Amino acid sequence: MYPKLIVNLEKLRENIDACAKITKEDGNCSLMLVTKGVCADERVCDMIMDHPQVDYMADSRVLNLAKYHDKANEKGKQTVLLRLPMLAEIEDVVRYADVSFNSEMSTLNALNEEAGRQGKTHKVVLMIDLGDLREGMFFKNEDEIFSTVDAVEGMDHLELHGIGVNLTCYGAIIPKNDNLSVLADFAERIEARLGRKLDMVSGGNSSSIYLIWKGQMPEKISNLRLGESFLLGNDTAYGETVPGAVHDTLIVEAQIIELKEKPSLPIGEVGKDAFGNVPVYEDRGIIKRAILGIGKQDTEVDGMIPVKQDADGNWIDDESIEILGGSSDHTLMDMTKADREYKVGDTVTFRLEYGAMLKVATSPYVEKEYR
Ligand SMILES: *Cc1c(COP(=O)(O)O)cnc(C)c1O
Repeated sequence: MYPKLIVNLEKLRENIDACAKITKEDGNCSLMLVTKGVCADERVCDMIMDHPQVDYMADSRVLNLAKYHDKANEKGKQTVLLRLPMLAEIEDVVRYADVSFNSEMSTLNALNEEAGRQGKTHKVVLMIDLGDLREGMFFKNEDEIFSTVDAVEGMDHLELHGIGVNLTCYGAIIPKNDNLSVLADFAERIEARLGRKLDMVSGGNSSSIYLIWKGQMPEKISNLRLGESFLLGNDTAYGETVPGAVHDTLIVEAQIIELKEKPSLPIGEVGKDAFGNVPVYEDRGIIKRAILGIGKQDTEVDGMIPVKQDADGNWIDDESIEILGGSSDHTLMDMTKADREYKVGDTVTFRLEYGAMLKVATSPYVEKEYR
C-alpha cells in the first residue's frame, strides 16, 4: 500500500555508529537516543537497544516509554522521559521512566511520593534554562536552583541523577561553549555542595553535537540526547551533515493518482485555501502537474524532498521535480522538467525533514516497510 515509509534499519544503525563515535569516543559523553521522531517504532527501538554503545533511550511521551521500558532494561538501557511530567501521569512516569527531566517542586514531590508507593528510587535530572525559554529553572534564579537541588537530595525516593539544558527548540538559541559553560559551572558548584559527582550533565540535543567535532564542547558536559542527528544525519545548529552519517534513512513513497498538463495559475478569484491561507502562485505557463495520494494528514508536505536512486542504490536529491503544495490528502507536483517519464500509478520518492518524519511516523494511513 501507499503512502509507504521505508525504514532502512541498517543505515540507522550506521548513523548510531557515527553518533557514538563522536559523542562517546571523541566527546567523552554518554549517549541518549531519542525515539519520539519515529513514534518509538518497535523495529527501530529493538535495533537501538541491541546497539552496545547506547546508554539511554528517551522519549517525550510516557506511552512510548511504556512500549519498550522492560525490554530496554533487560538490555541494560535506562529509559528517560524528556518532557516534564504532567501531574496527571505521575504513576506511569515512575513505572516506565527510570529517569525524568524536571523543573517544578510540586512535580518532584509527587514523583517522590509515587516512587515510595511503588517501592522504587526514581532518578531525576533538573533542567536549567540558559535562555531558550522553553523548560527549566531560569539560570539567573540561583536560589531556586540550589534549593531544588537540596530538596531533591533530601528526598527518600528520588535520586538527583544530574542537570541538563535544552536549546534550539523554542528560542532557537544555538549551543556554544559560552552558554554550555554556564551549565558546566552549575554542575561543579552542585557537586561541591553535595560532595559527590553528578552522573549526568546533559548538554542538549542534535544542535550540540557539532561542538564536539569543532573541539568546543566544555569538558564537564557528559551527555547528549540525540534524535534528529541519528535519524536523519543532521546537525541542527548549522545544518551540517553529522560526519559519517547519512540522510536517506527514512524514505517515503507516494503514488501518482493524476497526471495532466494544466496551467500553473488557478483561474478565478483567489480566496483562502483549505487551511485558511491566501496562496501565492508563480506563473510557469502550462505545466505537467502530478497529484500524489499523500497530504497534510500524513506529513508536512513542504518537509518532503524528492529523491531518486543512484547507481549504488543510495537516494540522492532529485532537483528535476518540485513540490507545488498540498491539501489534507493531496500533494501537487510540477513534473514538467522530470528526468524520467512518469505515468499514473508510478511512485515518487522523498526523504524527510524532521516535521515531515514526525507526522509520517505517527500517521495510521502510512504503511511501513523495513529494509
Ligand atoms: C526532542 C528532544 C530531544 C531530541 O532532539 P533532536 O533535535 O531530535 O536531537 C532532546 N531533548 C529534549 C528535551 C527533547 O524534547
